Amino acid sequence: MSKIIGIDLGTTNSVVSILENGEPTVITNQEGDRTTPSIVALKNDEYLVGKLAKNQRILNSEGTISSIKRKIGTREEVLLGGKSHLSEEISAKILQKLKRDAESYLGTQVTKAVITVPAYFNNEQREATKKAGEIAGLEVLRIINEPTAAALAYGLNKNISETVFCFDFGGGTMDASILEISDGVFEVKSTSGDTKLGGDDIDQELYNFMLQQEPLNGLSIDNQIKARLMEAIEKAKLELSSAMTTSINIPFLSANENGPIHFEFSLTRSKFEEIILPWVMKTKKSVDQALSDAQLMPKDIDEVILIGGSTRIPLVQQKIKEWLGKEPCKNVNPDEVVAIGAAIQASILAGETEDIVLLDVTPLTLGVETLGGRMTAMINRNSTVTTSVTEVFITARDLQTSVEVNILQGERP
Ligand code: ADP
Ligand code: MG
Repeated sequence: MSKIIGIDLGTTNSVVSILENGEPTVITNQEGDRTTPSIVALKNDEYLVGKLAKNQRILNSEGTISSIKRKIGTREEVLLGGKSHLSEEISAKILQKLKRDAESYLGTQVTKAVITVPAYFNNEQREATKKAGEIAGLEVLRIINEPTAAALAYGLNKNISETVFCFDFGGGTMDASILEISDGVFEVKSTSGDTKLGGDDIDQELYNFMLQQEPLNGLSIDNQIKARLMEAIEKAKLELSSAMTTSINIPFLSANENGPIHFEFSLTRSKFEEIILPWVMKTKKSVDQALSDAQLMPKDIDEVILIGGSTRIPLVQQKIKEWLGKEPCKNVNPDEVVAIGAAIQASILAGETEDIVLLDVTPLTLGVETLGGRMTAMINRNSTVTTSVTEVFITARDLQTSVEVNILQGERP
């Protein structure tokens, strides 16, 4: 039987993994890296994916697209190199590359995959992710939630009985989920999150701040200048996760009648933290929501697992520790843990891994539309699946001969 691969299709970075003899392996891509930037470019009628796309984006900003995951599940058309694409077509390019990299590692064809999505993704976003897999030539056997995958990876081959809090803060989304692990049963207690909150927002906030500084203030910014600034800003952000101060240095950013314009700015960690604090604090809402939905207090949490690149920011770690009163687990790789969990789920589906049961929940409330365009909730968020609810509704008018059942998902009444 051919191998089923596990894919973490991230907003910023993607990872592919498989289980070999019960041990997870993260597959190194063609470029020699364990993570692949989720960036696609169209250049001279050829698609480039990953590092190749990333390396040319400054000179080809119109022909390069990143963070496509933020658009998945919408009908919004995406322009890439003057050509219109659907978001799932772009995502498929990334999946195709991961598939090829896995095939070259395994030396055989790969046709099946498990793909992870943020727990908070709605049905449309999940279906579109599946569609992207199909376009890439992958049968998507299961879509699983990223925090659930992370917990699977954390709990694999450990005989534990714990309540774990998974906090995922990536490039485009954040998730907060609570799981109970015991005797190989992984039960999601609650999940909450924001599909529009991540490191991208932090970069954007820093960018807005930089635009107010001299000599950027008032300077006309074209795509190329913006791309160079964004790149330098992200680099500075990464440096501030270990250094206390960093400098942004972009020579010949632009020019005017007085000659070339260079940009230089020295950024301290404390200034950085001051700028990004509102975004970090925004994650607290989901943390609190996850706790209250699970009817738990911070003291009930045994272990905190940090997932996603943005959890490397010291301020984020500090806040999580403050909110949950616990030092996060150190032996989990925040970049790889989700893909490894997907690979574990793949091996469960292949019948190679036994004694693991996964109980997930509905991230959003499900209901039907009733008179007056209102949503009558039927299955509340965080209900363990599978579940069923029966309710009798009556027609709105006398002698009504038909009804249209409109199923809704979300929390707005
Ligand atoms: P996704 O799951 O959305 O693909 P990742 O988990 O790969 O995202 O995280 C990517 C985000 O993490 C980016 O915004 C990136 O700038 C940020 N990031 C990665 N490493 C660091 C670091 N050392 N310090 C701060 N932010 C980081
Ligand atoms: Mg991620």
